[in-house]
Amino acid sequence: MRLWNFSAGPAALPAEVLEQVKDELLDWHGAGCGVMEMSHRGKEFMSIAQQAEADLRELMGIPANYKVLFLQGGATQQFAQVPLNLLNGGKADYIVTGSWSKKALKEAQRVCGESSVRCIANTEDKQAVADGFTRLPAPSGFSVNADAAYLHLCTNETIHGVEVLDEAAFLAGVPAGVPVVGDLSSHILSRPMDVSRYAMIYAGAQKNIGPSGLTLAIVREDLLGKAAAGLPEVMDYQVMAKHDSMLNTPPTFAIYVAGLVFQWLKRIGGVAEMGRINAEKARLLYAAIDGSNGFYRNPVDVACRSQMNVPFTLHDAALDADFLAGAKDAGLLALKGHKSVGGMRASIYNAMPLDGVRALVAYMEDFAKRKA
Ligand SMILES: *Cc1c(COP(=O)(O)O)cnc(C)c1O
Repeated sequence: MRLWNFSAGPAALPAEVLEQVKDELLDWHGAGCGVMEMSHRGKEFMSIAQQAEADLRELMGIPANYKVLFLQGGATQQFAQVPLNLLNGGKADYIVTGSWSKKALKEAQRVCGESSVRCIANTEDKQAVADGFTRLPAPSGFSVNADAAYLHLCTNETIHGVEVLDEAAFLAGVPAGVPVVGDLSSHILSRPMDVSRYAMIYAGAQKNIGPSGLTLAIVREDLLGKAAAGLPEVMDYQVMAKHDSMLNTPPTFAIYVAGLVFQWLKRIGGVAEMGRINAEKARLLYAAIDGSNGFYRNPVDVACRSQMNVPFTLHDAALDADFLAGAKDAGLLALKGHKSVGGMRASIYNAMPLDGVRALVAYMEDFAKRKA
């Protein structure tokens, strides 16, 4: 039996998509074999990959001068690949708003040298809460160097639940010529977003797109061809773009499932409708937390509370084990918070229906009543 799965990643996929995968697993559209078993260069798989890209372009409104790359190595590999492709002898600026952007900064410094990678804002505040990250810097609170090779930010911090909800306002002060690179791993496709505000977007697939093993990169063409000398070909965006992401064998099955997720999104009304549903889900859950008279608590500044990842604590951590055991009995999976933050975390990505959030809220209210 499928339960409501609040896993932060790999995360739940739409049941409809999994049913289709099941139906097509042994024989894809009369090909006589499944997608996992066919050549990535055959006409069947080429059509799957091309359709997936076309659907993604349509869903996100990706301008024609951006390449869509289907890569491997996860978002973590991009922490190194971004500076190795884009730094080009210059210096980059990083904004740190949670664990993931902090890791991205550290990896860029490790790979390209500390002096080439500047941290221009860091909201870590260990005095505010134990884990440190609960807000975004004000747009007036950081200044991007006009000579930066790029600005890097993570637009949804999956662990801390801090999201850039208005990209245009947040990035308004960035000098015109500075390319903005966004790690959108945990909220890509969750609502309409202006791709053209970024020079590059990357995202691991396993939160809001499909199975792990696939990493999406959307790169503006003028950023290609600046890779560090000697960079392995599989890590060079320009080489991958030239070969339509098929320099070598791509993660075929993950691309196929991602393509089915894109079609599912189109059927339900695209990112506009998805955004409406996601906003309602987040509203319900935060209302339950804020309306609990302090039984539950989310420490994030309300102006940047994530609509995808909702961390919360119980007023008494001694109740955590009870809460989690009861949740499992109530059909609610994977609510334990990240080890660095503790407490609980509900990830309510696209594939989590409103009914799943309603079930969680009902359980939380009941639990609070019983333990108050
Ligand atoms: C999960 C996550 C990552 C790491 O992804 P991997 O695919 O495990 O490398 C990086 N950034 C963000 C925002 C994430 O949510």
